[in-house]
Amino acid sequence: MKEPLDYADLINRLADKTRRNQAIVLLVGAINARDLAKVTLKPGAKEALIQGLKHANPKVRWWSLQLMDHLADESFIPHILSVLDDPVGKVRRHAVHALTCDVCKPDRCGLGLSASIRTRIEEVAQFDSDERVRKEASTALANWGRA
Ligand SMILES: [Zn+2]
Repeated sequence: MKEPLDYADLINRLADKTRRNQAIVLLVGAINARDLAKVTLKPGAKEALIQGLKHANPKVRWWSLQLMDHLADESFIPHILSVLDDPVGKVRRHAVHALTCDVCKPDRCGLGLSASIRTRIEEVAQFDSDERVRKEASTALANWGRA
């Protein structure tokens, strides 16, 4: 009999580069961008990724965003938005990327972002304490709607 997946453990493994790739395959069923674009997430995996955004280890938070960037599920949007307040600049920057980048998404089709999300990204571009995060947000605004 197949063991049920321990999603919390798979999320923990995202912090460990020697076990990360295998964890990703078990978690979402794919590893490269092309296959990730076709994945239908199991509810447990989806919830685990959302929990991953609040993990104590910033590497796990970053990798959860990385997977969300490629999976492009619009139900992730409110969760990714809350990461714009993450204490770690590198994580906030990747949250801006995951929300605004089209290149990693299936068919290069970006998320459907509302005007209020644009306003939030404008706030980040102006007020984030980390210059690299502000720059990521400014670049996203400059390319907004230009898929
Ligand atoms: Zn991307």
